[in-house]
Amino acid sequence: MPDKTIFLCAISNISSGSCSEDCTFCTQSARYKADIERYKYKSIEAIVDEAVMARQNRAIGFCLVTAGKGMTESKLDFVCEAARAVKKKVPDLNLIACNGTASVDDMKALKKAGISSYNHNLESSRSYYPKICTTHDWDERYQTCLNAKSTGLDLCSGGIFGMGESSDDRISMIKSLKELSPVSIAINFFHPNEALPIKENMLDIETSLELIRYTKEQLNDSMIMVAGGRERMFGERQSEIFEAGANSIVIGNYLTTKGNAPDKDILLLESLGLRIAQNCHDK
Ligand code: SF4
Repeated sequence: MPDKTIFLCAISNISSGSCSEDCTFCTQSARYKADIERYKYKSIEAIVDEAVMARQNRAIGFCLVTAGKGMTESKLDFVCEAARAVKKKVPDLNLIACNGTASVDDMKALKKAGISSYNHNLESSRSYYPKICTTHDWDERYQTCLNAKSTGLDLCSGGIFGMGESSDDRISMIKSLKELSPVSIAINFFHPNEALPIKENMLDIETSLELIRYTKEQLNDSMIMVAGGRERMFGERQSEIFEAGANSIVIGNYLTTKGNAPDKDILLLESLGLRIAQNCHDK
């Protein structure tokens, strides 16, 4: 196992479900009636409590995620309020916002409220995207990534593997990520749900590890975060993602699916002799 530092990030779904978009991989689309929890906004107190817990679980990143295509005025106000409240209570958490398509002005407001990074995934290649979403286009996603960068926010971007895309699509998405050069790359593995139009993830573990390896090779300066689908895809072979090049994971639950218990992941990292980062600049 290479000697390295692993960065832990936690996610809070601060506005869940009932999205009008038709992304065929997403249980938060109202169209597919998936059996998930839906709420307009989580209380600020609950968000702060989750942030405190995330830090206790040694996360250094905390991501405020909202369902929906993009930013609205009320959503922006809410995310900023949540960011200020979390920063006040847990100042050493690096805050990430993930609120869909957003303008340069939105990004500036987020930054002012204490957000350091913006997460917006390309999800797949430009040419495959219309097959998994018809209500908005890929170029809008790419532009949002550029908007984040132009305001000096750190960009976190990536995608989902295993939605029926070809290997050329995967290479194409990684090439687009390379153009964007994000600080952090979020690699997700599609998690099937019976309500969704995409029924299966046909990827096997070897191909998935190869995708992590290839992404790291192409984007050596970026942090490689294995996010959604990690537990389901790698099972007992999770240690191999770190050998393949991952140096960050999401700890705790995901947006609508459960993750490992945080102490289980921490034990695994310690047993592998991997160091858990104390802050974002840790090496
Ligand atoms: S826009 Fe976001 S929340 Fe809405 S369906 Fe697509 S991925 Fe899900």
